[in-house]
Amino acid sequence: MSELHRFLFDGQPVRGAIVRLTDAWTEMLRRRADNTASGAYPVPVGELLGEMAAAGVLMQSGIKFNGALVLQIFGDGPVKLAVAEVQSDLSLRATATLKGDVADDAALGALVNVGGGGRCAITLDPKDKFPGQQPYQGVVPLVDAQGRKLERLSDVLSHYMLQSEQLDATLVLAANDRVAAGLLVQRMPVKGEGNIAGGAARRDEEDQIGRNEDYNRIAHLAASLTREELLTLDVETILRRLFWEEKLLRFEPQQGATGPRFACTCSRERVGRMLQSLGVEEAESILAEQGRIEVACEYCGKQYHFDPVDAAQIFAGPPVRQPPAPSAVQ
Ligand SMILES: [Zn+2]
Repeated sequence: MSELHRFLFDGQPVRGAIVRLTDAWTEMLRRRADNTASGAYPVPVGELLGEMAAAGVLMQSGIKFNGALVLQIFGDGPVKLAVAEVQSDLSLRATATLKGDVADDAALGALVNVGGGGRCAITLDPKDKFPGQQPYQGVVPLVDAQGRKLERLSDVLSHYMLQSEQLDATLVLAANDRVAAGLLVQRMPVKGEGNIAGGAARRDEEDQIGRNEDYNRIAHLAASLTREELLTLDVETILRRLFWEEKLLRFEPQQGATGPRFACTCSRERVGRMLQSLGVEEAESILAEQGRIEVACEYCGKQYHFDPVDAAQIFAGPPVRQPPAPSAVQ
């Protein structure tokens, strides 16, 4: 079962979280693999998307916010767009749009940053927006301060967290075809004594970046976690191996109904309503040409099939009353 564990280092200005997506992750892979138009993700793309899903859960778990955290990579290579979306209740989904061939050993640069134009966007989209409210979005390039291409998503995101929150973060991510997992340790904000003005607190944080010895020690331990360990060891073993000399204060693990889990709002009924709004003539012309209609959800890749009998039932039903959710017709 997919799980999220959050913890504090007792007496240290450091917090951590570890996520293991298993059933939630394989469901996302299965929907894509079952899609006859797209087929399964090439291995490096699946790994990138799994890392994005794990990172999305870790980042969402660290903020007090009611809404969706959306991680997007806009690529200029064979991956045009990769998206992972995690709601405050930890339900999540992810998808990628490809164009062109992906080499078996492609790293981040070869997937999404071939010409140096790749971007990673992190969006916080509140659930209950007041009129006119825009989602918050931060965008970072896929290069380091010297302009060198980054080859790991974890480097891109820790750079983003440092920039956006002025707090050091260490992230280890890994995914294969069964597990998508991640470990995050993050320095916590300096506690204000009395009423520190925002500006002073911010300067305090900047002074502390890279200089807090407790954080540096813990970050060093976290960074020693290998991809293999992250993918194969259970959470208790990982925490014991890495932090056996530290005193951890653990929160209740989140799994099952309160843990990270796959969810998409698509359904056969919804897609049927979309077809209805397309109109009977359009549907019949697709049926005449292809024998059946296939509609894929653009958020999770699940494909819905409608043969002529299904289509006839849809158009015999009550007319569409509301505009349908946007979906890709293939
Ligand atoms: Zn869907």
